[in-house]
Amino acid sequence: MIYRDYGKTGKKVSLLGFGGMRFQHIDDHDECVRMMVKAAEGGVTYFDTAPAYFDIKSETVFGKGLAELRRKKLPYYTATKTFKSTEADIRREIDAQLKRLDVPAIDFYHVWCITSLENWAARKKDGILNTFRKLKDEGLIKHICVSSHLIQDEIETLLMESSGGPGSGGLEAEGIFEGVLFGYSAYNFKTREKAFNAVRAKKLGAVVMNPLGGGIIPEHPELFGFIMRPGESAVAAGLRFLWDHRDISVTLVGFRSEADVAAALAAVEGYQPRSEAELVLVKEKAGTSFEGLCTGCAYCDDCPQGIPIPRYMDAYNQKMLSSRGDGAMQERLGMHWSIQAADAGKCVECGQCEEACTQHIPIIERLKYIAKAG
Ligand code: SF4
Ligand code: SF4
Repeated sequence: MIYRDYGKTGKKVSLLGFGGMRFQHIDDHDECVRMMVKAAEGGVTYFDTAPAYFDIKSETVFGKGLAELRRKKLPYYTATKTFKSTEADIRREIDAQLKRLDVPAIDFYHVWCITSLENWAARKKDGILNTFRKLKDEGLIKHICVSSHLIQDEIETLLMESSGGPGSGGLEAEGIFEGVLFGYSAYNFKTREKAFNAVRAKKLGAVVMNPLGGGIIPEHPELFGFIMRPGESAVAAGLRFLWDHRDISVTLVGFRSEADVAAALAAVEGYQPRSEAELVLVKEKAGTSFEGLCTGCAYCDDCPQGIPIPRYMDAYNQKMLSSRGDGAMQERLGMHWSIQAADAGKCVECGQCEEACTQHIPIIERLKYIAKAG
């Protein structure tokens, strides 16, 4: 395993991290615990979950897994998050999280899922920063972090303004954030790159999620030839491309099964780092922009009209990725998802899903297209 500094916290963390958002059998606690042990035995020390992953079941199973790691004397760090913003709500949440995780403190606690600077301003107004500071003073959390779905200049602005020092505009000059979690992969790196300006300037820990683009990279290796080296699987190539980035502390993989854990650990074993100059050349070869693909994160999946949005957006991905265009999209709708194109027309354009979308996808427009094309 490779270990890197988590910003200026003094902690070294495993470059491969365990994400608890994609367990294939969340109710099979023995299997989930086995996955965590297997990862830890392979050197993984960074374990990340969240209360909304499987409706608290991920945190619950993490509690069991972490207990087993302690029993086996395997080292670990815990990371989780809160979407709450008032002190009373956060205190209720963290109380329950500490019980579920069965730990006295959380190592990396995140202000969760900033989707816009307006959303961040509203949470600050609720006093979230003071509450996080208090939790740290009380020893309930060790480090204050943020998870963001912003892109381009916005993510840099969020980090520069909230991490103290020059460029903070006096807003949060105490340097509140010690680390950031954001989506970054071979398919969307172009629109996230600016985050690293702030990561370097503020010496933040940088944890990247969705490293395989929600499965897009292994499902479409033909599109990612620019990162592949001879004999590499798409999974290994996707992860190693990120590991070549020296500013990344942890690459978080949402493991579904023990086989997934084994595949990621195997990628660590055979890893031959590229030089920084080689990495620049690889990035230059990425001619196509993959921005706009749905990653299947399901943050949008609460439509008042009952539209299964991630399924429709997944079908639209096929249109974007396949040379068969609409034909591939229609096949995906019918054969894979068994849903009707016309039902996409039930959208009443309330905008809720677009507000929640981590990839800034024009969902309403795409639903209209699907309904018409069907
Ligand atoms: S905009 Fe349409 S698809 Fe999105 S949540 Fe509202 S009704 Fe559902
Ligand atoms: S449309 Fe956006 S929020 Fe919904 S699953 Fe896709 S990427 Fe996630």
